[in-house]
Amino acid sequence: MQLELIDRPSSGVAAATLLLVSVLAGGCSREAPAPAAPAASAATEAPASPAAPDRPAANPERNAYFGDVHVHTGWSFDAFTNGSRATPTDAYAWAQGQEITNSGMGGKIQIQTPLDFYMVAEHAEFMGVFNQMSNPESPLSKTELAKGVNSPDPVVRMQTFAGVLRDMSAGKVDPMLTDPALASTVWAEIVKAADAAYRPGHFTTFAGFEWTANPQKRNLHRVVVFRDTAKLPDMVLSALESEDPETLWKWMDELRAKGSTLLAIPHNGNASDGRMFETVRFDGKQPIDAAYNAMRARNEPLYEITQIKGTSETHPDLSPNDEFAGFEQWDYTLSADYERPKHRRGSFARQALLEGLSQEATGNGNPFKYGFIGDTDTHNAAGSNEEFNYTGKFAFENDASHRLKGMEGQPAGQVRQVQEFSSGGLAGVWAEANTRESIFDAMQRRETFGTSGTMIKVRFFGGWDFTDADLKGAGAVRAGYARGVPMGSDLKAPSGKAPSFLVMASKDPKSGNLDRVQIVKGWLDASGKQHETVYDVAWSGDRKPDPKTGKLPPVGDTVDAATAQYTNTIGAAELATVWTDPDFDPAERAFYYVRVLEIPTPRWSTIDAVRLGVPVPKVLPVSIQERGWTSPIWYTPTG
Ligand SMILES: [Zn+2]
Ligand SMILES: [Zn+2]
Repeated sequence: MQLELIDRPSSGVAAATLLLVSVLAGGCSREAPAPAAPAASAATEAPASPAAPDRPAANPERNAYFGDVHVHTGWSFDAFTNGSRATPTDAYAWAQGQEITNSGMGGKIQIQTPLDFYMVAEHAEFMGVFNQMSNPESPLSKTELAKGVNSPDPVVRMQTFAGVLRDMSAGKVDPMLTDPALASTVWAEIVKAADAAYRPGHFTTFAGFEWTANPQKRNLHRVVVFRDTAKLPDMVLSALESEDPETLWKWMDELRAKGSTLLAIPHNGNASDGRMFETVRFDGKQPIDAAYNAMRARNEPLYEITQIKGTSETHPDLSPNDEFAGFEQWDYTLSADYERPKHRRGSFARQALLEGLSQEATGNGNPFKYGFIGDTDTHNAAGSNEEFNYTGKFAFENDASHRLKGMEGQPAGQVRQVQEFSSGGLAGVWAEANTRESIFDAMQRRETFGTSGTMIKVRFFGGWDFTDADLKGAGAVRAGYARGVPMGSDLKAPSGKAPSFLVMASKDPKSGNLDRVQIVKGWLDASGKQHETVYDVAWSGDRKPDPKTGKLPPVGDTVDAATAQYTNTIGAAELATVWTDPDFDPAERAFYYVRVLEIPTPRWSTIDAVRLGVPVPKVLPVSIQERGWTSPIWYTPTG
């Protein structure tokens, strides 16, 4: 394993290398799995006996756990219509390394590095209804819609799904599709599957669902996660009655008052056409106020920054000086008819964080105080976060030719949307143990990071007196917690100095080396104007920033399009530094988050193109730089 530690300014911190191994990698179940063989399959192991040791051991200084809380199976209407016959039980088996076989056209699916936690989040709308259409005993199988849903032709099924989406957006719903008795039975089955697969200390599951509001095909979706299954509602909330997110938050508040513990995670602002982070209420007229801001912040601590339908960190139009903006963006609304969004403001996480500072400056509180995770939003039970093992979003894409070239008769716009799907992300969580309580509480306090699918590990602490000495010896993490705050927190009361940040990142053993670590800062100046800057704070090799532009040269690209191979001859296995904000003004509200970039590796479409012996479609990049984003740390002036 290549061990390299680059600091800026260069300052002989090799001693910290060993430390990094222990704080980032040590004790984690997934270290150094053999790339050739699928990692130890949970499916082939007997379920852990109560005496079996936790994997990894519980750690008061917290372990990085990787998972996905946004997973659909054939029990979601759109997943079923597009060919998935997998169940929640299949999903939990897949996440633990077992091969599953009922997920569409390409045969078996298996992850190479099993996940630590997983949550099936079926759409609340039409929950469990569409799969009844293939049950001859059910009256649903006699409907006109059932003909399209049961068609042997995947293109007809896709068009049937597009029609349902269109009707949903127009508020047209057949009452036959919203039988409450069926919905509550299916919800109970989903909870049962989650409970059955939960193995505390080894594999965590949650009960949850997706609230799927699509006003005018604009994505306002939220995934809802419950901390435990002791106090759950009999039925989940569908967006068919109201697409106003305030209805969801009120419903969540009511459940909380009755003893439930839950949170919501919005996603795909990039497909909301400016509606995800609006500063007006759902009616488009009334400005958001203190009550709205408090309700939103109370219910939504996290934002899903990346998934198959793209990354919504920031857009090049909003961040023209950020050469890494616009990554795997998927620039569409939620229409099945491939319509482009027109509005950038209100659609992206970085700008929402800035808008949150502006809201807070008015005295109304911050509605957009989001931490970050990633997920996949697979509709085929299998999260498909592994770029080199991509099996698509929908079951019909579980065939390399379908996802790369499209199907005969499929409209060209749809083919391109599928080609532009990202392979999906992962949620990283710093938690004491692999249990529902520990992982949920980490999500609630935003001690989380999102990745574009790889298992990059990143620690981030903010304080007032960190120095390079904190990276040496064995106590970096202890120092981080003792003298600072972790990702997702507010800096402790200012001391008159500029804040300093402790950052440590290590690569996914099965992916590319690290290119660089960046800190993204957003702030409000004295006039209330929003600003953002991206600082390169640690990088591989002996590159020097351009003296004129300040930009660090690119790391290079070893990807060979003809073979879809790359080499880890560039980049670093680990990067760490202590960085002090050189432009700090104690009077200005600010946030800081970390972005870690890998060296370029082949995109899934390049791997498929080689497999199929066709050229990479011109609209797609050959390689991508996989990355991770930590939750921010916020600074608020006193007085
Ligand atoms: Zn969604
Ligand atoms: Zn979803």
